[in-house]
Amino acid sequence: MTPQTIAVVGAGLAGLQVAARLLDAGLQVTLLEKSRGPGGRCATRRSPVGPFDHGAAAFQARTPAFRAAVAEAAAQGLLQAAPAGQRLLDPEPSGRPAWRGAPFMNAWPQALRERLVGRGLRLLTEATVRGLQREAAGWQLVLAEETARAALGDARFEAVLLAVPAEQAVPLLQPHDPAQAAALAACPSAACITLMAAWPAAQPGGPRLLRPAAGPLALAFRQDAFDAGAVGCAPTRWTAHARADWSLSAIDTPAEALLAPMLQALREALGDAAPDATPVHAVVHRWRYAQMLQPAAGPCGWSAARGLGSCGDGWQGTSLADLPLDGLERAWLSAQALADRVLGR
Ligand SMILES: Cc1cc2nc3c(=O)[nH]c(=O)nc-3n(C[C@H](O)[C@H](O)[C@H](O)COP(=O)(O)OP(=O)(O)OC[C@H]3O[C@@H](n4cnc5c(N)ncnc54)[C@H](O)[C@@H]3O)c2cc1C
Repeated sequence: MTPQTIAVVGAGLAGLQVAARLLDAGLQVTLLEKSRGPGGRCATRRSPVGPFDHGAAAFQARTPAFRAAVAEAAAQGLLQAAPAGQRLLDPEPSGRPAWRGAPFMNAWPQALRERLVGRGLRLLTEATVRGLQREAAGWQLVLAEETARAALGDARFEAVLLAVPAEQAVPLLQPHDPAQAAALAACPSAACITLMAAWPAAQPGGPRLLRPAAGPLALAFRQDAFDAGAVGCAPTRWTAHARADWSLSAIDTPAEALLAPMLQALREALGDAAPDATPVHAVVHRWRYAQMLQPAAGPCGWSAARGLGSCGDGWQGTSLADLPLDGLERAWLSAQALADRVLGR
């Protein structure tokens, strides 16, 4: 029997997509997100000097289903063609077209959120799920925040779907479905240290994208290329991601202490094109779980008997095990697969 009351944990692309499918099928869906807004790692950080896409900055679409979804979002003006080489894991650009948000990466998840809320989604933000309790009346969620607890009340759910990074899904799954937890526990994510920095003067020339062959940085790109001339935005803004090994070694260092080495790495990578001035804005974000390098085999996790499932980029998203898919495509595909399982399709 199809469960009717569903809690989805995590409002990244996977959580939004599985919520969309289940709402469209007429189920009651509550979406809980620990941050203030949706998008997860499909992220755009607002700042006094303009936005930075500090998570995924581009992705490919390889499967027909995801290509169709991407084409629809592009037709709505939510996605645009990405400059070559802007995917983080793209050491040898394949020539295959890539996509990015229009103008910023969180445009697509934001639009999904608005559509879902308009269709009756119950969305609780700043609601961190700490644990799951199975009772005769259904699943109860243990929340960290007092306000979120008050908003959720004593709601019970027939099914809980976890759409959070694999490492964060494992402790929630472990007490109830050790096999599903074990599948995700075998797949650790790579960390990523990300610098967002801005300079006051325009730099019309110079590189727009760097992939340094050596040093801490894997990828850096001119963020202002996507909103050139926008009011209130600093005219020269860089987003720079460190390599996975450097990031792992630095992940427990306070973010402020990583500013100097990351700025220095960007200056070295830019060489003669490095801005002379001191940056007017510089922030480091530490992604402990940035990219899943070896996802769990299979489309998603689902136990119909327990009413407990998982989706997101921790899963391959499809039964085509050898297809190298980007994280965002896996997240979307696994959400589709989980919605199919819940709906018994
Ligand atoms: C720096 C960086 C670069 C990347 N580059 C690329 C790229 O080039 N191409 C590509 O395709 N992908 C890239 N990725 C990966 C891509 O962003 C992810 O694969 C994708 O966004 C995963 O989506 P998701 O919905 O599975 O998870 P997420 O986007 O992580 O969403 C999970 C959500 O769950 C929330 N959450 C977590 N725990 C809880 C809890 N206990 N309670 C409530 N909410 C919770 C989180 O706040 C988050 O909003 C990159 C990621 C990073 C960080």
